This record gives sequence, C-alpha cells and structure tokens, in this order.
Amino acid sequence: GSTPRVALVTGTSSGIGAAVVKHFCELGYQVLAVDFNSAGKEVADAAGAAFFQADLTDPLACREAVNDAVRRFGSVDILVNNAGVQHVSAIEDFPEEKWRQIIDLMLTAPFLLAQAAWPHMRKAEWGRIINIASVHAQVASPGKAAYVSAKHGLIGFTKTAALEGGTQGITANAICPAYVKTPLVDNQIADQAKLNNMDEQEVVEKIMLKNAAVKRLIEPQEVAQMVAYLASDAAGAVTGASWNIDLGWTAQ
Ligand code: NAD
Repeated sequence: GSTPRVALVTGTSSGIGAAVVKHFCELGYQVLAVDFNSAGKEVADAAGAAFFQADLTDPLACREAVNDAVRRFGSVDILVNNAGVQHVSAIEDFPEEKWRQIIDLMLTAPFLLAQAAWPHMRKAEWGRIINIASVHAQVASPGKAAYVSAKHGLIGFTKTAALEGGTQGITANAICPAYVKTPLVDNQIADQAKLNNMDEQEVVEKIMLKNAAVKRLIEPQEVAQMVAYLASDAAGAVTGASWNIDLGWTAQ
C-alpha cells in the first residue's frame, strides 16, 4: 500500500495530546509527539510514536520540531496544534509574562508550525491542520484573558489557513471542547475548590458543568476521535470550521 501519513502532534505528555498520539498510532500513522516535558517520551514510546522535546514558546524550537519530523519520516501531512496552558487571574493583576507565554504557545506556535509544515503539505497536495481551540474560543469566562484571547485568535488563524489552503489540498479546522478530564482541568478543580471553599465534586457540578446540557466531563478519547475524523480523507470538504464538543454549552 501507500506510505502511512505523517502526523506531528504537540502537547503530548498528557491529556488530549496523549490520546491523539495513541489513536493516530492505532490508525497506523507515523507520529512525532512534541512536548517540553520529558514525560512525553514515555507516552510516545508506549504508543509507538517518535518524540521531540521542545519548548514551543521558542520560535526556533517550533521550526526544529517540523524539521525533525521531515528528517525522520520525509514529510508532515497532519499537524495537530494542541499544547496549551492556563493562567487564571483578573486583568488588573494579570502578569504580562504569563500573557506573553500563553500567546506565544497557543497562537504564535500554531502559526509557526503551520508555516514550517506548509511547503511539505503543498508539495503532497494534501494536508490537515487541526487546532485544538476551546469553548473559550467562542465565549469568555472571567479571569482567563490570555487564554480566551489566544483561543479566539486561533479561530481566525484557522479560517485564514483554510482559505489559503483550499486550492492546495490543505484543510484547517478547529475543535472547541468544553471541560475535558485532563491534568489541566484537575488542577483547576483543585484551585477552584480552595478558592470557593467547596469540595471537588461541587466544583465540577456547580462551576464546570453550570452551562452544560450533558452533565459530565469529556474524555480525552472523545476529542481524539474528532481529530481523527478531521485528519481523514473523508473530511476533505470540511475546512475553516469550528467543531464544538462542548456538552451543549454554547447551545444556550
Ligand atoms: P494537559 O495539561 O494535559 O496537556 C498540555 C500539554 O502541553 C502537556 O503535555 C504539556 O507538557 C504541554 N506543554 C505545555 N507548555 C508547553 C510548551 N511551552 N512547549 C511544549 N509543550 C508544552 O492539557 P489538556 O487539557 O490535554 O490540553 C490540551 C489542549 O486542549 C490545550 O490547548 C487546551 O487549551 C485545550 N483544551 C483543553 C480543555 C480541557 O478541559 N482540558 C478544554 C478545551 C480546550
């Protein structure tokens, strides 16, 4: 048969990224997992993926990650921009360095990675850019100025990439999940519990699922399945769109 697709996935040492790496490996793709945390190596090894350690707030590291995929596998067909962090603080107190870190990691890195992967996708006349945005790319919550701004920006980048890639076989889409069961959310649950003097169950029910029609957290695997669809040949007509997997949050 034909050579398997090459996928570069960022933010892979836990949560959604780890689930995407595992799922892509199961589909037979060649996967480069990219993370600044060396724990990403064990996750990659267990799944059968290659690992490249990089701090994606560094523009050079973004380009090196793509170079590494090309060196190992000859190309990049699928780019999943997933690495992300959260910082909760009122605008009045929001540290400038945190703002810059979040914009660098969650908006500039996806641009730089897409830019570096683009010529390879163009040559193959086939490419998939999948940006893990958030329900916070559609609506805001107080205390999350940088995160909400980066994620809203990522939707704009997704739409632009879709328009530019349309005649080149390159699609670009965003996925917008509500709360997914990952370490990122576990930390928030613990913080909110302390802040609001609630137990963790109460935080989930009263804060995290307040706007949800489906009253449960999302599993990382559920997001990975949507990523896999958008990465597939079947999704060639699907581009420039934001795909909510948000428990009905934005339906109201
Ligand atoms: P997570 O904390 O489990 O994983 C994030 C990954 O990014 C980690 O592996 C971490 O090491 C990596 N990372 C952080 N900073 C990095 C850097 N500078 N360079 C390279 N890698 C770095 O979080 P998650 O919940 O799986 O989140 C993944 C993505 O999904 C994020 O973009 C997040 O905003 C988005 N998201 C998450 C949720 C949720 O509820 N968990 C909801 C909507 C969107």
